[in-house]
Amino acid sequence: MVVHTLFEIVVKEPKKLELHECESSKIPVGDEVKVKLTYGGICGSDISVFKGNLPHAKYPVRAGHELVGVIIEKGPDSRFEIGARCVILPNTFCGNCDRCKKGLTNICRHKQSLGINVDGGFVQELVISSKYILEIPDELSFEKAVLIEPLAVVVHAFSKVNIKQDTEVAITGCGNEGLLAAALAQYLGAKVTAIDINPAKFELVKRLGKIRACLPEEVIGRKTFHIVIEAAGTKYSAENAIQLTESGGDIVLIGLVNEASLPIVQMVRNELTMKGSIIYQFPNDYQRAIDYLLDPNFPSESVISNIYPITDYQIAYEMAALGNSGKILLNFQEEKYE
Ligand SMILES: [Zn+2]
Ligand SMILES: [Zn+2]
Repeated sequence: MVVHTLFEIVVKEPKKLELHECESSKIPVGDEVKVKLTYGGICGSDISVFKGNLPHAKYPVRAGHELVGVIIEKGPDSRFEIGARCVILPNTFCGNCDRCKKGLTNICRHKQSLGINVDGGFVQELVISSKYILEIPDELSFEKAVLIEPLAVVVHAFSKVNIKQDTEVAITGCGNEGLLAAALAQYLGAKVTAIDINPAKFELVKRLGKIRACLPEEVIGRKTFHIVIEAAGTKYSAENAIQLTESGGDIVLIGLVNEASLPIVQMVRNELTMKGSIIYQFPNDYQRAIDYLLDPNFPSESVISNIYPITDYQIAYEMAALGNSGKILLNFQEEKYE
């Protein structure tokens, strides 16, 4: 076996991002496969780990959880073929706890999240159990496939409500998840309003299709919606979600807000329903996400803003942290030297 050097991106400590060299020598055993990564998406939670804003993050940690690639080696018990194109499930589940047994693998009691509290996948080759691999169809480009994981978060949230033709939907927060939620809601025929405090986001939203984009003050107290998807993850946004919801309506929270004070009386009097939604069911929500991404009418290309070679990781993270762009991707097989 020829051992070669690989690059990996490590968050050494909050605000300290490094490109390390490691060796490719790890051989997959049992049901493991070795995946040669093509693209990785930078997510809001990657930025939170980098900034030191996630309480359950561990340091140092190899970054990254939105990952696609090709299987280049396999252990004897893996059912996948070498050469298979795949997407990775970056949240582990035990399969044995009470929650897993109820099918709630997304809230497994022993869940570990790649790139947050266990080493992630921003490395050129990753060895991982076949349990966390889903093959992707040949017709789906890797650029689109890297959106499977973040889109599955939205698919799961939408499974808790009924968004259909002409449903009035508000999305609060136009980060990566908010943009994907706006894209999916409008794809499903809903009348979508995307709300953000940063007007720089409005151009991105408009690229997704016929979606109204506005500041919170333009709608709060003026208009209500059947369904509100809270994707900003701020106290202010969670509190205002109630003002934005029509009587009998639903709020789905996907943003991670530590605390908020909610006007419960208004929820009671207006019979509002508030639901939390965390990550996704694997593989079902992944499969749904793949189906949407395969449809040329789904505006996936408009969600992606830039693709950088792995060696430009600093610029890529800076761009993502600025918060003015759509999804930023890293190309793991492109290395650039000045
Ligand atoms: Zn993510
Ligand atoms: Zn479990």
